[in-house]
Amino acid sequence: MPHSFPKHRPGGPPAKRLGGGALLSRRLPSVPKSDGMNSPLLSLGASVKAVRGVGPGLSQHLTRLGLHTVEDLAQHYPTAHEDRRHIVPIGQLLDGDWAAIEGEVRQVREKAPNRKLQIVEATVCDPSGCIVLTFFNQPHVKHQLSGSLRAYGKVERKIGQMLQMNGPDMERVSDKPSALFGRLVPVYPLTQGIVQRVMRRIVVEVLRALPPVPEVVSEDIRQRYRLMPRRRAIVQLHYPAATDTLAAAQRTLAFEEFFVQQIGVRLKRMGRAVQPRLTFYPNLDVVDPFEALLPFPPTGAQRRAFQDVLKDLRAPHPMARLVQGDVGCGKTVVAAFAACCAVWNGCQAAVMAPTEILAGQHAQKLSGLLPGIRVGLLMGSLRTKEKAQVQKDIASGAIQVVVGTHALIQEAVRFDRLGLVVVDEQHKFGVVQRTRLWEKGDAPDLLVMTATPIPRTLSLTTYGDLDCTIIDELPPGRTPVKTHHIGSNRLDGAYKWIREQVREGRQAYVVCPLIEESEKLELASAQQVFAHLRDEVFPELRLALLHGRQKADEKEAVMGQFRSGDFDVLVSTTVIEVGVDVPNATVMLIRDADRFGLAQLHQLRGRVGRGAHRSHCILVADPESKNGKERMECLVQSQDGFFVAEEDMRLRGPGDYYGTRQAGFMQLRVADMALHRAELEMAREAAEDVLRHDAGLSHPQWEELRRVVERNFPGSEQHFH
Ligand code: ADP
Ligand code: MG
Repeated sequence: MPHSFPKHRPGGPPAKRLGGGALLSRRLPSVPKSDGMNSPLLSLGASVKAVRGVGPGLSQHLTRLGLHTVEDLAQHYPTAHEDRRHIVPIGQLLDGDWAAIEGEVRQVREKAPNRKLQIVEATVCDPSGCIVLTFFNQPHVKHQLSGSLRAYGKVERKIGQMLQMNGPDMERVSDKPSALFGRLVPVYPLTQGIVQRVMRRIVVEVLRALPPVPEVVSEDIRQRYRLMPRRRAIVQLHYPAATDTLAAAQRTLAFEEFFVQQIGVRLKRMGRAVQPRLTFYPNLDVVDPFEALLPFPPTGAQRRAFQDVLKDLRAPHPMARLVQGDVGCGKTVVAAFAACCAVWNGCQAAVMAPTEILAGQHAQKLSGLLPGIRVGLLMGSLRTKEKAQVQKDIASGAIQVVVGTHALIQEAVRFDRLGLVVVDEQHKFGVVQRTRLWEKGDAPDLLVMTATPIPRTLSLTTYGDLDCTIIDELPPGRTPVKTHHIGSNRLDGAYKWIREQVREGRQAYVVCPLIEESEKLELASAQQVFAHLRDEVFPELRLALLHGRQKADEKEAVMGQFRSGDFDVLVSTTVIEVGVDVPNATVMLIRDADRFGLAQLHQLRGRVGRGAHRSHCILVADPESKNGKERMECLVQSQDGFFVAEEDMRLRGPGDYYGTRQAGFMQLRVADMALHRAELEMAREAAEDVLRHDAGLSHPQWEELRRVVERNFPGSEQHFH
C-alpha cells in the first residue's frame, strides 16, 4: 500500500521563502466548510460508495488503493502538506518556490501545438507583478479564467522570460470558504484514475460526515501522554488548523499505532509462554559433545549463546530467540548447536536462508559439522524429481536437518517431527514467512539470526516478541578490515594492488554497480565489467562471474570453485551480499559504492576479514553530495555494525530505513521509528502497564483496542477474556 509518512513539509514541495505575504487566517476550522448542504453522518464500516460523490467508477479506483470503507478513507493519510496559508506578492516570487498567489486575470491565450497537446495560458497580475499560469490539456479551465483567482504551484523564473507557473492548482476567489487556500492542504498518495483534487474532495466529504470514532487508548492514557481524542487527531492530520495541531495529531496517531503493536507483540509472546513444550529435553550434557565436533573452540559469546539456547530448550514453553551479531561473529555455529540439540532429541530442524548460495553453504557446513546426521537441501531450483525426493525424506523424517530457501514454506513441505526452526538473516524475510515455517511444526522452538544490527528502537517493534542474545565478540585471530574510499580515477591503482594480493595467494571480490531499476541492466553491466577485467585488466588471472540470473547449481559451482581456490577474482552482483564465507578472500572492491545502502555495504564488507590475513575493503565512488561523502566516511571510520546502522538511519532520514515499515508485524501508517522514538517508548510503557493490570483486556474500555489488535495480529483473540 502506498502509504508513506505524513510528515509536514512546510510548503508541500519545499518552499524557499514564505511569510512575505498576507496570512489569510491564523486558525482554521479543521474541516473545510461545506457549501451549504450538510451530509448525514456516515458509518465507519460503510462502503466508500456511501460517500457523497463516489460512484462505481471512483470506488473501483479507490479499491485499487486498498480503500474499501469509510474508515479506510479516513485513515488514508496525506504524505505531506502544502503550506498555502500565505499569499505571496507576485513580485516577490523566486525561481523554484512553491507558493500561493492571488491576482486578476488579464489575458487568456489558447494554443494547440499538436493534436495531443492543448495549452491554455493566463496572465495574472497583482499590484506587485504578473505571472503566466499554464494549463496542459485542461480545456475546461478557460471558463474559470476571469476575475480574480488564486493559484498554487511551482514558480519558474527564467532570465528574459515572464514568471511562470505550470499546471497550478487554482480556484476563483469568491465568498465561499476555500478548501484549497489559506490553510495547510493535504497531499495524498494517489493511484491511476484519481487526481489530487478528487482525492481531497472525497476525504473532505468523509471528514464532514465522520461519525464518532471509538478510542483505542483509555482516557487515562490519553491524559498521561497528552494525546488528542482520536477523531480530532484524524481530522487534524488531514486538515490541520495549524502546524502545532498537525504535530500533535501525528504524535497521537503514532502513539496509538505503536501501542497496538506493542500490545499485539506482547500478547503473542504471552501466548507462546502458556503454550506447553511438546518436546521434552532431557538434562543431558550436550555442550561438551557438541564442542568436541567443532574444529575450533567457541568464543565466549558463542558459549553464552549456547547457554541461552539450552536454558530456553529446558523451559516449559517453546524457545523464541533472536541471535544478533555482526557479520562474521559465528552465528552459524549457534544454529548448528540448536540443530544438534533438536536432532539428538529425536526432532527435525529446519534452517531457512534467504539465498540459494547461502542455503547451499549452510547445508555443506552443517553436514560437515554434524557427523551421522542427515542434512538435506531444499530449494526452488531443484529438479522436480529431486525436490519430490527431498520432500518425501522430510516427511518421513529421514532428513533430520533440512536447509533451504523460501521453498521450505511451500504447502507441499511436511515434516515428520519439526522441533526447531532457524531463520537466518531474518531481515530478508518478513514476519509472515517466519511464522509460516513455524506453523509447520507443533509449536517448535524458534531461533532467528540476523547480522544486520538493528537500532534498539527498531528491534523493539520488529522483534519485540523475541528474547535476544547478542554475540559481541569476533572469533580470535581476525584482523579488522581496513576500509578505503577512492575516486574512480584511482581504479587502476586498486586493480594493480589486487594483482599483488593475488600474487601473494589471496583472492578478491569485485562487486558490480547496483542497478535497482532493472535486473537486466544489472546483469549487462556485470557482464561488461567481467569481460573488461578478464580481457584487459587481469588477463593472467582466473576470473569467475556470479549473478542472480544463474541457476542455483551454477552459482553453487562457481562459489565452490572460488572457495577451493580455483578462481582468483570473483566478479559479482550483490548476490554475495549475505553470509558467504571464504576465509582466503581478503579484498572486497565495490564499484559505485555510493549506490548501495550503508547497511548493505557493511554486509558486503563482512565477506572479507574472515581469515588470518589482513583484509581490505575498497569503496570506489565519486559522491557529489555531502550526504554521500559522509556515508563513505562513516564506513572508513567505523567497523561497528551498530554504529553503521544508526548512521544509516540518520543519513537516510526517517521513513526510509529498511524494515521500519514492512518488516514489522503490522503496517504503520503514521508512526515512524526514526521520528517517533519518544512515542514508541511511551507506547511500550503504556502497553506493559495495561497488560500488567488487565492481561486479558477484559475491561470494556479496551473494546476497540481488542478489535484492532485482532485485525493486525490474527489469533490473538484467544487471549482476550
Ligand atoms: P556469521 O555470524 O556472519 O553468520 P559465520 O557463522 O559464517 O558468521 O562465521 C564466520 C566464520 O568464522 C566461519 O568461517 C566460521 O567457521 C568461523 N568461526 C566461527 N566461530 C569461530 C570460532 N569460535 N573460532 C574460529 N572461527 C570461527
Ligand atoms: Mg551467517
